[in-house]
Amino acid sequence: AYEKIDEGHGRDELHEMALAYNDMMDQLGRNYEKQERFVSDASHELKTPITVIESYARLLKRRGFDDRNVADEAVGAILSQAVRMKELTAQLLDLARSDRAAAYSFKQADIRDIAEETVRPMRQAYGREFVVEGPEKLLADTDPDKLRQLLFILLDNARKYSDGDVRLALEKTDGRVELSVADHGPGIPEADLPHLFDRFYRVNSDRNRKTGGTGLGLALAKEIADGLGAELTVESVIGVGTVFRICFASSRPKRHHAVTE
Ligand code: ADP
Repeated sequence: AYEKIDEGHGRDELHEMALAYNDMMDQLGRNYEKQERFVSDASHELKTPITVIESYARLLKRRGFDDRNVADEAVGAILSQAVRMKELTAQLLDLARSDRAAAYSFKQADIRDIAEETVRPMRQAYGREFVVEGPEKLLADTDPDKLRQLLFILLDNARKYSDGDVRLALEKTDGRVELSVADHGPGIPEADLPHLFDRFYRVNSDRNRKTGGTGLGLALAKEIADGLGAELTVESVIGVGTVFRICFASSRPKRHHAVTE
């Protein structure tokens, strides 16, 4: 907790400074709490695979050299937990990097190209249809790498949590660009929607699925959207499907342009 300055009542410079100082301290306090929660959530998530690895390594040491089945089971479990930890730490690092403004560099780019480049390898990898709709060319200021990363998270979720086609629609109206990723999957319960972008949050039915996600994808998506100056929203209807929307201004304010340009 930070000591607040008495803001007083006068409209003089000192009063303005006190207000600014208190705002700054509020902001710092919030960031600090966010950081602390992040570290404690992250260690909690990492503890589970470490504990599993430890206990299987002990089992392996105790009985694995006499019993081939025990050895197979232990090595299998250790391997899968190690893979999970690798995925988790990679995402945690991405997340830690993603909120640094310096990591973003804007330039004019064709959003259609970015969309096609993101979708092409996914069609190849999954043999699924990813439909891109909208204008053949759509110019806007953005960070192409970050936008690709953001689109990938949303498209990959749509693929993971639904069976049919995934649709990526592009639209430009009144100086704004809207990208939407839509699927015809099971949808997300209304009660979960407000928490969807929280770190480690997973909808109940997906929490115990074998295809274990980390619950970090959408938190990262949100951070990237913030860095890009974009709004990221979700609409979902149970039994109908889910739409994630990215919305941003097609030309960036000056301060967002890369210094080198
Ligand atoms: P992860 O996919 O690793 O669990 P995310 O943060 O990407 O983590 O997603 C959080 C949760 O939101 C998922 O576990 C899933 O329950 C739900 N979700 C995300 N995208 C969709 C989607 N397109 N359709 C249905 N549920 C989704």
